[in-house]
Amino acid sequence: MAWDFRTEPEFQEQLDWMSWFVRQEIWPLEAIWPELGIDGLGRALEPLKAEVKERGLWATHLPPELGGQGMGQVRLGLMHEILGTSPIAPLAFGNAAPDSGNSEILALAGTEEQKDRWLHPLLAGDLRSAFSMTEPDTPGSDPTQLRTSAQSDGDGWVVNGRKWFTSNGSIADFLILMAVTDPEARPSQRASMFIVPVDTPGVHILRDVPTMEHPWEAFGSYGGHSEVIYEDVRLPAEALLGKPGAGFVIAQHRLVPGRIHHCMRWLGVARRAFDMMCERATYRYAHGSLLADKQTVQNWIADSAAEMQAARLMTLHAAWVMDTEGASAARTEVAMIKFFGARVLHDVVDRALQVHGSLGYSTDLPLEQMYRFARAARIYDGPDEVHRQSVARNVLASYSPPSDGVPSEHLPTRRELSRARFAELLELLTAND
Ligand SMILES: Cc1cc2nc3c(=O)[nH]c(=O)nc-3n(C[C@H](O)[C@H](O)[C@H](O)COP(=O)(O)OP(=O)(O)OC[C@H]3O[C@@H](n4cnc5c(N)ncnc54)[C@H](O)[C@@H]3O)c2cc1C
Repeated sequence: MAWDFRTEPEFQEQLDWMSWFVRQEIWPLEAIWPELGIDGLGRALEPLKAEVKERGLWATHLPPELGGQGMGQVRLGLMHEILGTSPIAPLAFGNAAPDSGNSEILALAGTEEQKDRWLHPLLAGDLRSAFSMTEPDTPGSDPTQLRTSAQSDGDGWVVNGRKWFTSNGSIADFLILMAVTDPEARPSQRASMFIVPVDTPGVHILRDVPTMEHPWEAFGSYGGHSEVIYEDVRLPAEALLGKPGAGFVIAQHRLVPGRIHHCMRWLGVARRAFDMMCERATYRYAHGSLLADKQTVQNWIADSAAEMQAARLMTLHAAWVMDTEGASAARTEVAMIKFFGARVLHDVVDRALQVHGSLGYSTDLPLEQMYRFARAARIYDGPDEVHRQSVARNVLASYSPPSDGVPSEHLPTRRELSRARFAELLELLTAND
């Protein structure tokens, strides 16, 4: 019997240390983040990064030869649940998006020269990166329709197109760009990835798009989502990452494990919102009783606890399938947790916000920020509807219509068959009457 939900004691010790460290050293930085700015935050994080490295927990998502631990997705997932409690924690552990995913791409598809020039400085924190795939004029949910093109020109490429939601584009040193290199190829082989330094002539970073997260015009701040025009951008041959046409394959390698990390981080956020909801219920008194005694609030607490537990077990199971059978075997499980986890995060944060009334809506609590974060989770990394569709497709693939057109569970038909099968027994019973 191999079912086992325990964490081995040595790793549990690491998890306990991470929980303590994140709460003790990182949560306090959240409250003064805007005052610190990205440079001040960088300085505050330096000694913390050193401690993380000393514990062997820096950039653990990478292969061991690049300093990762080869931990496997279950352990990484448990770790991300703790880091997810704070938007700052991933920066201290060398696995903040989008640099973490981009470093995985470079580790996976980069040549030794590309790794030396881009990956190692990225891991050392000397460079910043962004991932530039989504376009305003084509559906990001179906990137086979991308229009940004990279045309072969002598021994290099010429890129033209418009992207947006290139997160961190306005503070990046280089962009990992997805562009169509062969419009005639099969849809999944049309696009390739390129490394584009932001100071390449023809790269115009127009603006950071104001969003629910930053609903005002700003440029060059951490977490901005940039709109970028590529106008006759000439790239050398060595800018190509991997083989021509391998863009989607590389992207999938990056996205599948990344979704497990996202979902576990969402649970870290949901847990924090849940704790706030429960605390509030114990002292807010209205209409003759505490909120904790109102059935609606009890239902919210019970539903949230059950949904978080379900999302956690589903996510760890998806991670376990990845570890034991590989990424492609876990595709349905990973698609399931993407939309299920995003919904759980959204609903738990929404209930916690509601229980706090106007305080929850105010910026005196982090709930409104969590709510905006949760809303985005249903869109990025593939909108929930696309993941639902792919789960339904995979599920339906093992079903076929009944050969006689009658539903398999049709009771009159089954009764008929059973009567024929058990005719002797039925006859005996009737004879005894
Ligand atoms: C906070 C944030 C950060 C992001 N960061 C990056 C980044 O760093 N780099 C990058 O390249 N992109 C990034 N994106 C973009 C993101 O990947 C896209 O927004 C996403 O893929 C959806 O594409 P779209 O916005 O073009 O929406 P569309 O593709 O136009 O889809 C719109 C809606 O159509 C519906 N829909 C689509 N397909 C189906 C279907 N099959 N069945 C039913 N309904 C469907 C869904 O409701 C979907 O939300 C980011 C987005 C956000 C919100």
